[in-house]
Amino acid sequence: MPVINSIANDKDEVAAWRQELHQNPQTCYEEEFASAFVKKKLTEWGIPFKENIAKTGVVATIEGQKTDSGKRIGLRADMDALDIIEKSGVAHASKNPGKMHACGHDGHTATLLGAAKYLSENRNFNGTVHLIFQPAEEGGRGAHKMIEEGLFKDFPCDAVYGLHNWPWMPVGKVATRVGPLLASVDEFEITITGVGGHAAMPHQTNDPAIIASQLVMGLQSIVSRNVDPVETAVLSITNMNVGTGAFNIIGDVAKLSGTVRTFNNDIRHKIKKRIEDMLEYTCKAYGAECHMDYDFNIDATINTPDGVVAAVEALKEVVGEENIDADCAPCMGGEDFGAYLTEKPGAFIFVGQGVEGDEKSPHNHGLHSPYYDFNDDIIPVGASFFARVVEKSMPLEG
Ligand SMILES: [Zn+2]
Ligand SMILES: [Zn+2]
Repeated sequence: MPVINSIANDKDEVAAWRQELHQNPQTCYEEEFASAFVKKKLTEWGIPFKENIAKTGVVATIEGQKTDSGKRIGLRADMDALDIIEKSGVAHASKNPGKMHACGHDGHTATLLGAAKYLSENRNFNGTVHLIFQPAEEGGRGAHKMIEEGLFKDFPCDAVYGLHNWPWMPVGKVATRVGPLLASVDEFEITITGVGGHAAMPHQTNDPAIIASQLVMGLQSIVSRNVDPVETAVLSITNMNVGTGAFNIIGDVAKLSGTVRTFNNDIRHKIKKRIEDMLEYTCKAYGAECHMDYDFNIDATINTPDGVVAAVEALKEVVGEENIDADCAPCMGGEDFGAYLTEKPGAFIFVGQGVEGDEKSPHNHGLHSPYYDFNDDIIPVGASFFARVVEKSMPLEG
């Protein structure tokens, strides 16, 4: 069975919304254009909503033809863009220099609006749907902030669903899995303060460059020697800053920063503790001071078994069973959708958007690439998924 007909018929209209959103990207709690766009459409369709949740966030509510089941489902789209100079060359490229919808959140927002239109026109369900339009997914912890500001108290949900376009999988294919789908993302910054001096008299210093170098190598042993080999974790040092730029000065400060990713909270805390210990004792050994800021930024996205069953049942009707990978490989990338799944059951899915046989297509460029563009052909897939998961989880009959 294909995508829902009326949603397929609306595709060009929804694609035009998507392209308008693409032209007007904003980041991290400044998504005023997308937020206003969403509210305008919801108002047109007579769908009630609450605004200014986590600044630009909007939550709309659609009741089914019946609501006596008492069931409630949350559907989520992210609205934010990235600090990237767009090079996609598409006609609807960013009009806001330095900002770009390079992760396809323009597409997610338009897709959820397409589903909202269908659901409000048909209401073929017994229960309540909450449409969650979220800011600041990219590093701003927008999902956490919406929860902190009372999302699930004001809009109780029994399950939450979300999706992400996936350039590495062709159009028509979808994927998900029970358990960890995307990793937790933590960030840390280390400062080593020692004694600098003349490069020709290193014995009068304790050279923070040497200490930082020891640490970079030592920290790499945490994943290989403190994490069970059958588990998954990444520790990457992504920045190292030492010295003054001069050839003949040993600087007195070294800075390191990086990221830790894993699917397991015990491992996450263990890695943090090992970084702290290694930092403290390495610096002590060389007689330097140290400080670390460690930020537990976003939780792993861990799908619940019942959430995946409901998502797959809906997807069977949209793309057919043969196009669903219900046990795909997890990805070490992060998504703040994990915050919703720490509170509620549900599932996050990947929707393929790659174009086979056209390597240069902007839809085949990876997420966060300046050459990337969301593929409007997958709007009917995503919107039909949202609609069907509601209709099948909260059926009118039975
Ligand atoms: Zn992204
Ligand atoms: Zn994204």
